[in-house]
Amino acid sequence: MRYIDLRSDTVTHPTLEMREAMSKALVGDDVFSDDPTMNEFEELVAKTLGKEAGVFVPSGTFSNQLALFTHCQKGDEVIVDQGAHIVQHESGASAVIAGVQLFTLDSNFGIWDINKLLNTVKQRTISTTRTKLVCIENSYNGRVLPLDYMEKVYNASKSKGLAVHLDGARIFNAATALHCDVKEIAKYADSVSVCLSKALAAPIGTVLVGSKSFIDEARFKRKIMGGGMRQVGILAAAGKIAIETMSKRLSVDHENARYMESLLKTIPGIIIDERQRDINMVFFDIDDERKYNLDTFLFEKGVKILPYEGAFRFVTHKDVNREDISQAIKLVSDYFS
Ligand SMILES: *Cc1c(COP(=O)(O)O)cnc(C)c1O
Repeated sequence: MRYIDLRSDTVTHPTLEMREAMSKALVGDDVFSDDPTMNEFEELVAKTLGKEAGVFVPSGTFSNQLALFTHCQKGDEVIVDQGAHIVQHESGASAVIAGVQLFTLDSNFGIWDINKLLNTVKQRTISTTRTKLVCIENSYNGRVLPLDYMEKVYNASKSKGLAVHLDGARIFNAATALHCDVKEIAKYADSVSVCLSKALAAPIGTVLVGSKSFIDEARFKRKIMGGGMRQVGILAAAGKIAIETMSKRLSVDHENARYMESLLKTIPGIIIDERQRDINMVFFDIDDERKYNLDTFLFEKGVKILPYEGAFRFVTHKDVNREDISQAIKLVSDYFS
C-alpha cells in the first residue's frame, strides 16, 4: 500500500536521477581525502553558501553537535532558542559530546529581543562560565526569520566577540521564501549546517560549512565522533543533485502547503497557526477531543501524520502531489464532520 506521508519532508525518496548518479560515482577512501566526488561536493556546498570549506556528516544532529564541539571548549556556554532543534530534538547530545552548557532564551517564535540576548552574554568569573557561541535556526519550524533580524543577531554577537552557528537544516526553504540566494542568509553566521535529506531528497547527509581553519578542526572532531567514512562519493553524488536541482523546486512544496491550508480552512473549528506559514508546513489546531485519535484514523485510510502534540504539523514535499493533498484533507474533513 502506498501511504500519503505528511509526517515530514525527511520521508522523501531519492530521485531516479540520484540513484543513477550514485551508481556511477567515482569513489575513494574519504578518511584519506581520496574520494574525488566527495571532495568536489564539499567544495560545491561551501561555495554555494559563500563559505571557504565544508565537511560532510551523516545527519543534521551530527552537524549541529560537531559545530558546538568545534566552536567550544568543554564547559563553555552556548545561547540557543528554547524551541531550537539543538535543545529539543538532539537527545541531549550537547551535554555528551561537546560538554557545553546550553542557555536557552525564549523568543517570539524564533525572534529574540536583542537586548535580552546581549544581557545574557557572560564573561568568565569564579562563578560564571564564558559565553562562546550563539546558535540560530532558519527556517525556525514553519517560520522564516527575516534577513534584517539575522543581521541584528550577528552584529550583536560579534559586538560581544561570540561565534554564530546557523542551523540551516532547511536553509533552501528559507531562501525560497525570502526570494534570496542562500548566501544572503549564510553570511550572518560563521558556520552553517545544511541538510540534504529533507525536502532536497538525498537519502543521507548534512554538510557543515565555515572557514577553512574551522572545517579543518571539524574534520578532526568528526573522526572523534566516529564520522570518518570511506566511499562516500555515492552519497555525494546524490547530494550534488539535491543542491543543484532539488533546491530549485521548493516553491512547489510551499505552494502545496498553502493549498493544503486552504482546504483545511473549510473544516469548521480548524485554527491555522498564522505565525508559521512560510515554508512547506501547515501547523493547526482544532477544538475537538477527537483530534487525539486522528493519526490512527488516517493511518487506516492510508495517510501518515504525526500524532497531535499541542498542534498538528502537516508537511508537503516532492512525494505528495495536489491530488494526494486533496484526498488526505478530505479524510480529515470526514473525520471531524
Ligand atoms: C531536521 C533538522 C535537524 C537535523 O535532523 P537529523 O534528523 O539529525 O538529520 C536539525 N535542525 C533542524 C532545524 C531540523 O529541522
